Amino acid sequence: MKTENDLTLESVFEQIDASWEEEVDFLQKICQFPSTLGNEAPVQHFIADFLEKEMGLAVSKVIPDPEKLSSHPGYSESDWSYDERPVVIGEYRSEGKKKGKSVIFQGHIDVVSPEPVSFWKHDPWGAEIVGNKMYGRGTADMKSGVAAMIFALKAVRDAGIKLSSDVMIKTVTEEECTGNGALAAIEEGFKADVALIPEPLGQKGLIAQVGVIWVKVKVKGLGAHTERADKAVNSIIESYKMINALLDFEKALNSQEKHKDFTDHPHPYNINIGKIHSGDWPSTVPSECIVEARVGFPPGVKPQDLKDDLKAYLLAAAQKDEWLSENPPEISFYGFHAEGFSIDPNQELFDVLNDAHMVTEEKPLEFFSFTATTDARFYNLYYGIPATCYGPTGGALHAPNEWVDLESVKRVTKTYAAFLLKWCGYSGKVIEE
Ligand SMILES: [Zn+2]
Repeated sequence: MKTENDLTLESVFEQIDASWEEEVDFLQKICQFPSTLGNEAPVQHFIADFLEKEMGLAVSKVIPDPEKLSSHPGYSESDWSYDERPVVIGEYRSEGKKKGKSVIFQGHIDVVSPEPVSFWKHDPWGAEIVGNKMYGRGTADMKSGVAAMIFALKAVRDAGIKLSSDVMIKTVTEEECTGNGALAAIEEGFKADVALIPEPLGQKGLIAQVGVIWVKVKVKGLGAHTERADKAVNSIIESYKMINALLDFEKALNSQEKHKDFTDHPHPYNINIGKIHSGDWPSTVPSECIVEARVGFPPGVKPQDLKDDLKAYLLAAAQKDEWLSENPPEISFYGFHAEGFSIDPNQELFDVLNDAHMVTEEKPLEFFSFTATTDARFYNLYYGIPATCYGPTGGALHAPNEWVDLESVKRVTKTYAAFLLKWCGYSGKVIEE
């Protein structure tokens, strides 16, 4: 016999099936906004309107203020403007006596550049659907998750169910470079008992992630016309030495005893040489070369300690070189100042997520340790708010032809709806079969 809870859940799932086309349409629309760094406002206004007009949520917008945030240990240095780049918060406020617990659903709407676009078979901003996949920059990372979390709450409400606790929908900026969007909203007081972030991790529950920092290494040369290039010092060639030192540092990081959540991972701490900039003329010996890299490191290590160690390591490597010891590289840091974390999977957040996952996937939730960073760190590290990531299945993240599996988006929508009913509690009508 079906219980009242089963019938309620069924009615919500029917609602998700019934509004599936609308959800796919919403996902396509938000993927068609090219919301790279600095260009987030149009999609944020679109989402804010949707939350307010289609869902009746109380909508707030927060503009991150670097001055206010800069003393926070989780703040990441940036030198760009935050004007007109809001974080959006939509609040569902339960009526009457609160029975359950509150939850934040949070997704980032910033995406990385799709360049080189010539490598794509699909328009990166087209959100083209082929079979069961949607292609485009941000389809997986992570606008599909944003659609799933919004439509989970929408389906619960459209099915006539009143949740007994508050739900917050946050769409944030700058997840891909600083996390300052997420941090600003929490600092403004937008908090709850737990937070769920639908990053595209293939319906697994995140229990740990590495720390991440960005480093910039400026290597000097001695510029000249190529006819006397033998007397000049080529900064591009000198920069090889610093790149090799970075790769040696990576080897050293990975040869240490691994953090307990990463013992199964062959190479958890990655250094990516992501940018190199030098030279402007084939017949000129370049005077300066700037190398930028992303550095992953174990949970438990403070970002500032890692930066100090890395700087000392690179300068020591420079000391061994004739030119670089006389002309030491300038080492600086900006962007990610992200500490890693590890949380206990034996807690209520994961119990309820597991129950919800079982309903749609019919197998227990698997846990996952991530070799990159997510905004979940802020909640776990600084506010005592347990937070995890659980989201759809996709591929080619940060690469050409990014895609998301639409079937997984629907399943995550259902898992999140089931989570809402159990976590928040509810009252209100039960739709009869
Ligand atoms: Zn992401």
